[in-house]
Amino acid sequence: MAVKRLVLYPQHEARLRRISKPVANPRSKSLRRLIQDLKDTLETQPGAAIAAAQIGVLKRVTVVKFGQDDEDEEEPMLALVNPQILAAGTDEVGFDGCLSIPDIFTWDVPRPSWIQFRAQGEDGQEILRRVRGMDARVIHHEIDHFNGILFLDRLQDPSELYTPVSGDDGETVMLRLSDLPGMSA
Ligand SMILES: [Zn+2]
Repeated sequence: MAVKRLVLYPQHEARLRRISKPVANPRSKSLRRLIQDLKDTLETQPGAAIAAAQIGVLKRVTVVKFGQDDEDEEEPMLALVNPQILAAGTDEVGFDGCLSIPDIFTWDVPRPSWIQFRAQGEDGQEILRRVRGMDARVIHHEIDHFNGILFLDRLQDPSELYTPVSGDDGETVMLRLSDLPGMSA
């Protein structure tokens, strides 16, 4: 059990770009440890999911919290080993952010409106599920990590990046990154 340091963009971009390998033995002790590390790390973070590559382990393993479209329905963390997309709906443009790219958000990334996927759970059991909305976006984003793809690569308009800034009245406002002094996307 350990909270791991996140692999960050842009300083560790080369590591985030590497391809993750499928897990050969879904019942190994090392996989169990990896899943626990992912859960412990995600616990300390504001995100909905984390891929093993984000803690420097190039295995196709992610821990997700589904139920993202409704605060009251957030599910407990779910480990997905070797997840594979079986079918997907048409793309919808929407929100994205990444624990490896802190404090930068967008509403400009096309991802499938629903996804049917298969994976192994943490005890090796088969998981077959169909998710929609933010949950579909989340699993699509995580599978991208396995393939070295970041949400920045999928922006329709590269200037559509925002960062939260505290205004004079203490309210947080989202400012376009390219409008900040000394910043450029
Ligand atoms: Zn990410």
